[in-house]
Amino acid sequence: MSIKDKFLTYISYDTQSDPDSNSYPSTKKQFALAEVLVNELKELGLQQVMCDEFCYVYGILPGNNNVSTKIGLIAHMDTATEVTGKNVNPQIIDKYDGSDIKIDENHLLSPKEYPSLNKAIGHTLITTDGKTLLGADDKAGIAIIMETLEKLVKENLPHPTIYVCFTPDEEIGRGTDKFNYDFFQADFAYTIDGGDTSLINFENFNAASAVVEVTGLSIHPGSAKDKMINSQHIAMEFHSLLDTQMRPEHTSGYQGFNHLNNMEGSVEKTTLNYIIRNHNMNEFKKQMEDFRNIENFLNHKYPTKPIKLTITESYLNMRELVLSKPIVLEYPIKALKRCKIEPSFDPIRGGTDGARLSFGGLITPNLGTGSYNHHGVMEYADIDEMNKMVEVVITMLSIIE
Ligand SMILES: [Zn+2]
Repeated sequence: MSIKDKFLTYISYDTQSDPDSNSYPSTKKQFALAEVLVNELKELGLQQVMCDEFCYVYGILPGNNNVSTKIGLIAHMDTATEVTGKNVNPQIIDKYDGSDIKIDENHLLSPKEYPSLNKAIGHTLITTDGKTLLGADDKAGIAIIMETLEKLVKENLPHPTIYVCFTPDEEIGRGTDKFNYDFFQADFAYTIDGGDTSLINFENFNAASAVVEVTGLSIHPGSAKDKMINSQHIAMEFHSLLDTQMRPEHTSGYQGFNHLNNMEGSVEKTTLNYIIRNHNMNEFKKQMEDFRNIENFLNHKYPTKPIKLTITESYLNMRELVLSKPIVLEYPIKALKRCKIEPSFDPIRGGTDGARLSFGGLITPNLGTGSYNHHGVMEYADIDEMNKMVEVVITMLSIIE
């Protein structure tokens, strides 16, 4: 089966995860794809292949070149929650000619707006029909890993021992909660879950959530004089004391932000839900300090001490961990260059499963997949780039010492 057919098979399964579910995996339907992947890994002759009760698929391909380093390859099976992944109806474009692609009446995929298309001329592209996402995030990653394994086995190419894992629930931030570190004895690993093939991601945000609960006092407005405390006003005051330039819509690259994700209020009680993000640890701490300072200020200003702030750390930047083991970046850099791709290093403005794994002891930067515009109906996969990525991974495996 070609990488294209593998990919088309995987995206035919609806594997959307569900942030409102408390179970592991969050949705039972992810098991259907897991079963397909288990069978394929078994057919390829991997060892200890299994899908555990939490829907993590594992397998081991023993090395054939006397290299003692063991490496991990990881991709996620679930799809994003923003747009449905049910009944994906892929549109296949052979030998793309560089023109605008009409996805449907309302959606035009144009190289003017999406410049990644400019390097796709002559390639086979797969798009949606405008009604669903495609699921290339991260089924392109799964297809790349499967194609790599198949080539290694069938062509008897040199490689060290490879641990493989396909995870559920990445999109809802729970893709490593039940990761089996005892089983997965790799020295380091790569998630294959990115956009452009040139990408090596090893920096992500430090992340926290801040919940601001404001308590007021409700009285009939007709007799409220000197009595009513409207928690909504105090909440707005809290918000107005945060730096307006530090909002997501004003930041990019390495700039951090405080984002008011959601607010709910009445006279009696108002809650503000923020997320706090920064690549730089000191600036990240400073942002959290700002929140605490505003809490203190308003609790001094109002005698009822109306503000209760709760800050919870979500995940941290893996940068320092990855840089502590430079070889982990040197292998993909070398492999990309040998495949005539100039590596690029984009700081992730979010978190990754690899960051969580790195803090769990398994250093895991991220590599690209050759798919674009994830989490929406404009998502597309470039089959030629996916094949190129297979070449990159095979090259990387051959140079690991
Ligand atoms: Zn992903």
